[in-house]
Amino acid sequence: MTEQVHAKQMKPICRDCGAALTSDDIAIYRKLVFREAKEYLCMTCLADDLGVPRKRLEDIAAYYHRTGFCSLFVQYT
Ligand SMILES: [Zn+2]
Repeated sequence: MTEQVHAKQMKPICRDCGAALTSDDIAIYRKLVFREAKEYLCMTCLADDLGVPRKRLEDIAAYYHRTGFCSLFVQYT
């Protein structure tokens, strides 16, 4: 049973570097780039892409976690 579950679950990975993504990586990508995205970048690649320091994206994620304003950030893993 567990094997089937694993096969079905697509582990989200970064489109650029193939790193495993956290829920924050996905949330920040959806928030900043495209809400309906099916492929994502990790925060490092996204920061690169946007030309901003990675810390900036981490700050944004932390902000949304703190405020709870954005539904994309409700669950913390
Ligand atoms: Zn990446």
